[in-house]
Amino acid sequence: MGFRDYASFNQALLAKQGWRIQQCPDSLVARVLQARYFHSSNFLNAKLGSNPSYIWRSILWGRQIICAGSRWRIGNGQDVHIHKANWIPQLITFKPVIKPTMPSEALVSELINGENCWDEELIYRHFDKMDADVITQIPLPRRSREDELIWHYGKSGQYTVKSGYQTALKIRFPAMPSSSEPSKNEWNIIWSLALPQKIRIFIWRAAKNLLPSAENLWKRKIVQEPTCQRCKMGIEDVCHALVDCKAAKKVWRLSFFDNDIQATPGHDILSLLHGMTRLRSKADVDLFAAILWAMWNARNQWLFTGKRENPQSVVAEAEAVMEAYKRVQPSADLEWNPPQEGFVKINTDAATNSEKNLAGLGAVIRDETGQVTAAAIKVSKFHGSVAYAEAEAMEWGLQVARDPQVKEVILESDSQEVVNLVNNRHGSRSEVYWVVLEIQKLKDSFDHVSCVYTHRSCNAIAHSLAKLALEKCETVVWRDSYPLQIMYLLSPLN
Ligand SMILES: [Zn+2]
Repeated sequence: MGFRDYASFNQALLAKQGWRIQQCPDSLVARVLQARYFHSSNFLNAKLGSNPSYIWRSILWGRQIICAGSRWRIGNGQDVHIHKANWIPQLITFKPVIKPTMPSEALVSELINGENCWDEELIYRHFDKMDADVITQIPLPRRSREDELIWHYGKSGQYTVKSGYQTALKIRFPAMPSSSEPSKNEWNIIWSLALPQKIRIFIWRAAKNLLPSAENLWKRKIVQEPTCQRCKMGIEDVCHALVDCKAAKKVWRLSFFDNDIQATPGHDILSLLHGMTRLRSKADVDLFAAILWAMWNARNQWLFTGKRENPQSVVAEAEAVMEAYKRVQPSADLEWNPPQEGFVKINTDAATNSEKNLAGLGAVIRDETGQVTAAAIKVSKFHGSVAYAEAEAMEWGLQVARDPQVKEVILESDSQEVVNLVNNRHGSRSEVYWVVLEIQKLKDSFDHVSCVYTHRSCNAIAHSLAKLALEKCETVVWRDSYPLQIMYLLSPLN
């Protein structure tokens, strides 16, 4: 894994001890330490005390990491201090940027109303608008649940030494942009793009900073200056050429990715791809990567032949290359199949619009003959996570399918992540868990529900319905008779 800074590595290991004490307060170690050092408070607030042992001193050193990288998943807000605790996920400090006008001991529970929703009026009154926008996006559980401390830098919410080490480095060397060597897994995102190999290699080179940008050529003394020749404003590194240049921005605006680019932290191609995966569907991430490639081609054309790029044709080229790739892929057993006798199959999908903060949910229910028995669309708030929206779509599908006649159900989604969560293969402590709980509860309304992953090419109708939900901005369930637009979507050609 390459732990180069020994002190940071040690601190990350000690933080693991601290994490265990925080998470399992009933363990023997936790009880012994609590009796001696923090009997009247909790681990996070415990003081060094007089005459501390070497172990306790070390654990508190590790605790710095826990405090920097963990935050509360809000349930009922009763354990979380508005001013002191880490609780706002999108902000680096996890705390309000501007001090809210609430009493110093106020709890997050005071911001939640009797229906388990954010009291938006109160929040906008006491918090700066920017903070309030972020807070009101945090998903809350449907019914009151306890707050839980989770490790922010891991999908499952559990502390890992590896991500703790990254946090330790940031504490020790705050000026270092991000010294993290991306792990092997993080590169997989590039090799799993549904795009021709030449484009995947291009993306890999862009992420490794191997493209002949003006800056890279200047470093090798091939050109006189590192300045961007297209806009003459700023140094042309890879990110400038593909993302920040005036010419690039025109393309991003046209393709509706500009909002998501701004919402993505980090300033390199790999972080952008990872950020995009959180906000957009797999197909959108493929398109995003294809545009990067088309963008570079257009830049070269401009520089070498003087022919100015047309933003529209950059996007069109990216779309064309994606389509062409899809056509040559073997499509055997990538077809939707009706369920076995006596079963119904629910397909669900979500589409998101981060600009309008909306998620569109689609669900289609078919019987053993492949006949559609219901189609449904719903709009929901987008909470900044595609997985969350995908889970909501599955919940919606089950709600629509609920009927005394329906006993055996197959629930299909193209989100492997959420399918795993529902099947309990990987626990998660991030907010998507609130919806997973609802899905698991809904499963009890049927004799049997199996939740399976399906390739997105077999999920096309649900996908179109999700998009339609975004477009129409309404919630409708159709049974037996369908308007023309829906008939078209449900036709076998789709
Ligand atoms: Zn430029």
